Amino acid sequence: MALAITTIKPKPQAPEEIMIMNDISRRKFLKTLGLSLGATALPISFAKAALRPRVIVVGGGFAGATAAKYLRLWSNNTVDVTLVEPNAVYYSPILSNLVLSGQKQLSQLGFKYDTLAQKYGITVTRSTVNSINSANRTVKLANGKTLGYERLILAPGIQFKAIPGLDETKILHAWQSGNQVQQLRQQIQAIPNSGTYVLSIPKAPYRCPPGPYERACVIADYLKRNKLGAKVIVLDGNPDITVERDTFNAAFTSTYAGIVEYVPNTILQSVDSAKKVAITSFGDYRADVLNVIPPHQAGGIVLNSGLANSSTGDWANVNPLSYESTAVKGIHIIGDSQGTGQPKAGHIANAEAKVCADAVLRLLSGSQPFAAPMTNSACYSPISATTASWLTAAFAYDPASQTMQLVPASYGASSGASTSNYRKMFEWANSLFGDTFA
Ligand SMILES: Cc1cc2nc3c(=O)[nH]c(=O)nc-3n(C[C@H](O)[C@H](O)[C@H](O)COP(=O)(O)OP(=O)(O)OC[C@H]3O[C@@H](n4cnc5c(N)ncnc54)[C@H](O)[C@@H]3O)c2cc1C
Repeated sequence: MALAITTIKPKPQAPEEIMIMNDISRRKFLKTLGLSLGATALPISFAKAALRPRVIVVGGGFAGATAAKYLRLWSNNTVDVTLVEPNAVYYSPILSNLVLSGQKQLSQLGFKYDTLAQKYGITVTRSTVNSINSANRTVKLANGKTLGYERLILAPGIQFKAIPGLDETKILHAWQSGNQVQQLRQQIQAIPNSGTYVLSIPKAPYRCPPGPYERACVIADYLKRNKLGAKVIVLDGNPDITVERDTFNAAFTSTYAGIVEYVPNTILQSVDSAKKVAITSFGDYRADVLNVIPPHQAGGIVLNSGLANSSTGDWANVNPLSYESTAVKGIHIIGDSQGTGQPKAGHIANAEAKVCADAVLRLLSGSQPFAAPMTNSACYSPISATTASWLTAAFAYDPASQTMQLVPASYGASSGASTSNYRKMFEWANSLFGDTFA
C-alpha cells in the first residue's frame, strides 16, 4: 500500500496515486524504501522447520491481517504465523458511512479470512486472546488453549470509555462497523419529517479524524432527500473541525445550510439513553436518533496487559522502528492501539503493519530494524451520494526525537468535494482491502 513506501514528492499525491502493494515482494518493498539489498539477505528464511519462529498476531483488522500476510510473504513462508480473531467476517469501518445513507450494503464491506489462510498459510484461530504471559511468551485464549510465541503482535483496535447513563444497546456508536452500522441505518430510516439526528464527537485522538464530519454530511444528504425539515446537530468535543476544515465547513454552511448545526467545544457529560438526550457542557440535546461516539482508548488486551503506558494511560507507547512495546519486550502493538501520535486510521495501520512485519523478521534473524521507516495515511470522505473529498499525509522517523514526524510537504487535501473523488474513493478502498485481505 501506500505507506511505508512512497518517495515523498514536493506536491502531495492524491491517495489513489500512491502505489498499493498487492503481492509485493519484500525485496521490492525494501527496494522502494531505498534500502540497499546487500544490507541483509532477503527475503529472510528460517530453514529448519523444527526451529521455525512462531509469531502470533492478535486481531484481524487492517493492522493485524496485513502484518500476518506480510510476515508470511517476506519470510518465504518460513515463519509460523497464527492470527487470532473472534469474528469469522471482518466488517470494514472504512466506507461504512455509506451503509448509513443506503449507498452500500454492509455485506459489501465484509471480508473473510479464507484467503489469508489458504493462499498465505496463516493459521487463523477463531477466538479471543484473554491474557498474555510475557515471561513464558504465551497467550491464553477464550477457547481454553494456550499458544506460545517468539514474537507477539497486538492489533486489537480500540475500545470505548464509559459515559454515565450510556446504554450501548439503545444509543449506538456504529464506529466499529458490523451490526451497529446496520442498526443505525434502521434508526435513521425511521427518523420522522422534522426529526433530529444528534451526533456526539469525542475529543481527539479518535479513530479516523474526518470520519465523524463525513458521517454528518452523508446523513444530512440522506435527510435532505428523504425527510422534510429534518436536522443534523453535531456536538463536537473539539474546539473546531479537526481536519479538512474548509471542505466540511462549506458542506455544513452551504451544501447543508439549514440542515446541519455545528456546535464546537461541546463535552458530553452524560446520556439519558431512554429519552435519547445528550447532556452536555452547553445544555441538553434531545434527539430522535442520538449517535454517541464515546472517547477511545486502546483495545482491552493492551490495557489489561499493562501495555497502555502513554501519558494518559490510553495508548501503547512503542518504538516506531519496530512497534515493540516500550513496556514489555517481545510484544509489538500496531494500528489504532499504538501511541506514536500517527493518525488512527486503516490505511496507516496497514503501513505500520508492514514496518512491524519487516522489523519482526529482522529481529528474529538477529539483525536490527530498518532505521528510517516511513508511513502514510489516506482518508476519503463521502460528502454526498455523488461527491467525496480526500486527505493524505506521510510520516518519517526522526532519529533525534525517536518519533514519527509529519513530513510537511506530503500533507495534502482535496480542494472541496467532487464526483471524480467519489469514483476514486472506491479504487483506493478496493486497493487497501485487497492488500490487506486478498
Ligand atoms: C466511518 C469510518 C470511516 C473511516 N474511514 C477511513 C478512511 O477513509 N481511511 C482510513 O485509513 N481509515 C478510516 N477509518 C478508520 C479505520 O477503520 C480504523 O482506523 C482501522 O479499522 C483500525 O485498524 P485496526 O486493525 O487497528 O483495528 P480494527 O479494524 O478495529 O481491528 C481490530 C480487530 O481486533 C480484534 N480483536 C480485538 N481484541 C481482540 C482480542 N483480545 N483477541 C483477538 N482479537 C481481538 C477485533 O475483533 C477486530 O477485528 C474509518 C473509520 C470509520 C469508523
